Amino acid sequence: RDVMVAYAARSRGEAPAWAPLPVQYADYTLWQREVLGDETDPQSLISRQLDYWRDQLADLPDSLELPTDRPRPPVASYRGADHLFEIGADLQSGIDALGRRTGTSGFMVVHAALAVTLARLAATDDVAVGTVIAGRGEAELDELVGMFVNTLVLRARIDSGESFADLLARVRETDLGAFGHADVPFERLVEVLNPVRSQAHSPLFQVSLVFQNLATPEFELGDLSLSGVEIDTVAAKFDLQLTLVDTVDPDGGSHYAADIVYATDLFDGESVSRFAERFVRVLAGAVADPSVAVGDLPLLEAVERSFVVEAVNATAHPVDTAASLVSLFEAQVARTPDAVAVVGAGGEVLTYAQFASRVRRVARYLMSQGVGPESLVALAMRRSVEMLVGIYAVLEAGGAYVPVDPDLPAERIAHVVDTADPVVVLSASRDGVTVVGGRSVLCIDEVEVSGFSDAPVAESERVAVLRPQHPAYVIFTSGSTGRPKGVAVSHTAIVNRLVWMQGRYGLDGSDVVLQKTPVTFDVSVWELFWPLQVGARLVIAVPDGHRDPRYLAEVIGRESVTTVHFVPSMLAAFLGAGVASGCGSLRRVFASGEALPGAVAQRLRGELPRVGVHNLYGPTEAAVDVTFHEVVDADVVAVPIGAPVWNSRVYVLDGRLRPVPVGVAGELYLAGVQLARGYVGRSDLTAERFVADPFAGDGSRLYRTGDLVRWTAGGELDYLGRTDFQVKVRGLRIELGEIEAALSVQPQVAQAVVLVRETELGQQLVGYVVPAAGVQVDVRQLSAAVGEVLPGYMVPDAVMVLAALPTNASGKLDRRALPEPVFEAAVFRAPVTPVEQIVASVFTEVLGVERVGADDDFFALGGNSLIATQVVARIGAALEASVPVRTVFEASTVAGLAARLESHAGSGARAA
Ligand code: AMP
Ligand code: MG
Repeated sequence: RDVMVAYAARSRGEAPAWAPLPVQYADYTLWQREVLGDETDPQSLISRQLDYWRDQLADLPDSLELPTDRPRPPVASYRGADHLFEIGADLQSGIDALGRRTGTSGFMVVHAALAVTLARLAATDDVAVGTVIAGRGEAELDELVGMFVNTLVLRARIDSGESFADLLARVRETDLGAFGHADVPFERLVEVLNPVRSQAHSPLFQVSLVFQNLATPEFELGDLSLSGVEIDTVAAKFDLQLTLVDTVDPDGGSHYAADIVYATDLFDGESVSRFAERFVRVLAGAVADPSVAVGDLPLLEAVERSFVVEAVNATAHPVDTAASLVSLFEAQVARTPDAVAVVGAGGEVLTYAQFASRVRRVARYLMSQGVGPESLVALAMRRSVEMLVGIYAVLEAGGAYVPVDPDLPAERIAHVVDTADPVVVLSASRDGVTVVGGRSVLCIDEVEVSGFSDAPVAESERVAVLRPQHPAYVIFTSGSTGRPKGVAVSHTAIVNRLVWMQGRYGLDGSDVVLQKTPVTFDVSVWELFWPLQVGARLVIAVPDGHRDPRYLAEVIGRESVTTVHFVPSMLAAFLGAGVASGCGSLRRVFASGEALPGAVAQRLRGELPRVGVHNLYGPTEAAVDVTFHEVVDADVVAVPIGAPVWNSRVYVLDGRLRPVPVGVAGELYLAGVQLARGYVGRSDLTAERFVADPFAGDGSRLYRTGDLVRWTAGGELDYLGRTDFQVKVRGLRIELGEIEAALSVQPQVAQAVVLVRETELGQQLVGYVVPAAGVQVDVRQLSAAVGEVLPGYMVPDAVMVLAALPTNASGKLDRRALPEPVFEAAVFRAPVTPVEQIVASVFTEVLGVERVGADDDFFALGGNSLIATQVVARIGAALEASVPVRTVFEASTVAGLAARLESHAGSGARAA
């Protein structure tokens, strides 16, 4: 208007006669200071409003992470683009009508629907949206040029079971509260709340919603004609900025012209257009029936739904339903009796016929002890040919084997054995296991000489007919409530898994598989059975071999192994040891058990170009693995876990068991023939994790994994993490709750929390304990006490004593505020002998600590089994000796290890 007045006046040759303004911007600033008052005065407006916001925004998540087309760059470029769409007249009148019925504004209805859309796409229940207010409430400001706009944060908690109407009522309160506390400048609020600052995204909120209801003024300059020029560079201040403009239609009705400005760092136009469609679908659903639970408002289109429910799960494939692990093995024995089946660690070689003969003798003995279908036999044995004979014999007899690590603490073994209640406990004399959980042990070497027949076992000899639904094995895995639980898996389930594996990867008589996975982990199951169903050869590694890269490379080379499994962290250590080049016989490397980093997979492919690298995924509760993906060049950051195997189905669901769209994080549920029968003796836990399958409607079950995943557009799964406190430490499955329970029962401890920290030394398990009243906690003694009940890999690497556990504003444990662990060095005593000095200097190097003394312990300083592989390599190089990794576990102090090594030094197994 000032320009128009000036132009009109000047074109008449006169000076413009502007009316003086009642106030200036400076007046406004003075007024604002006076109204807000002083922050040091608790009664001032600014103090009261800051208190309001502190309370409203307490523990707000750092950012809202929507599914993006590209990962968020560390520094936002602010480049943007916009997408225009419409909220039609009908929907607008629906919004208005709902507003009138509920005493809410159109803004509130739209805000609630937007919050629901965001919550469901970002898989969160806590959604902050920003909005701007004009700040021009006073009429005196109407003609004044200046910045009065303020930004407000509108936070909505979304309970997916709540009706839209109820959410709207709460949103109304939130929005009114925000408008009532709109005087604190946003910049000041950010300073005071001090959220995690990042150059990657805006603070406090990343999505904004603006209602534009100002009429655009006509700009008239007499005889000049004017028109707007489109600006083609759009700046995106936020990830998404949704603006609605109430627009009058020619017929007198109106609609909302909508515009989304989006950050092109993150999104492509197509995704934003899909976002707009989803938002309108949710909004329309809510307006049509506000009594619907917000988690049930329609988000997916029919074609999308059929993609993520049916297309990706079209896995039906015929597999012989009468087969069992026994029938598949015996059929191979009949086909190739004279081929080599098993090679022991000591070089012992058995043909299929020889191995079968040993298996059948022991099976007959077991049958004579009452072993048959549905009975369990515990195997407390270290890896050996005898162990393999034992496992196969249990199955031949019709029973299921229960592997038990004989090196576990006695209490834990007793729990496993009491829970499984086996008919027999098998071991070998050389393992020195005499009593297990109060039961006496049968030694396989004594049984083998007992003179039973080695003819094929006839079905009629078994106590009952062996059927495919009978259990084949029971594997115990960490339990969140404090005790391990036993997963029972049927022949049908594991046979499907193995027949699929053969169909997919096709082993033949020229293949050699290395058995190196401890049999207490389900990955061992395919190593044990697959090769002997197809005429391949099984090579048995020495008991500790799986954690010694140099040993592994040596066996692989010597035995021409073609097929091997690695847990990804061990694969990284193997590659780090620089021994892979000697493994040219390898054709397939399977990785599973934890997320496979792209860099590790690519390094392996680079070093052994003829190897196919396969990422497999699956919990013990679903016959080893249920999804697969072969690594390709594009897998540089993360490697997908892929698509489901034969006769298996996977669903990515939200908290209301509804499928989520492609790209959205959800919990993974599994269905199909590979599901386990359940947890032995724990029908309560079974009912909790194995739920009715709403997609099948035939009484079949879904297993709830607790894994967080998302669909890729190509119909594969990306692994994102866990929804609970189950972790993987170097591939070992651990429920943190189980360690917390073990700490908490100690009398010195009042409270305990355990977490896994990623440090330079890799993953560290750290326990935090609050002492019982008036007690001084002795950390060493505490660690020793939990070591009496937990396996070594579950004993915390460090225990920190805290006066109290940190809590957040709502009083809940704040895990992020738990301090970094401190590794305690022993009182310093200088290393004396040359070997001690070498050991100490190697510890110093690999652990990155300042000074290591003769009494310092490798593990107490933060070492772990993977770093131990580096230690032995370096010490071996310095001493010209070959040092097995096991030595570090047996003697882990500088002086102790040095004493062990004195005898090895100079043995010349390796050149310096
Ligand atoms: P387990 O029962 O020991 O086989 O452990 C199963 C759990 O390990 C799964 O629920 C996942 O959390 C994790 N896991 C297994 N395989 C993979 C994989 N390929 N990528 C990421 N996580 C995996
Ligand atoms: Mg598994």
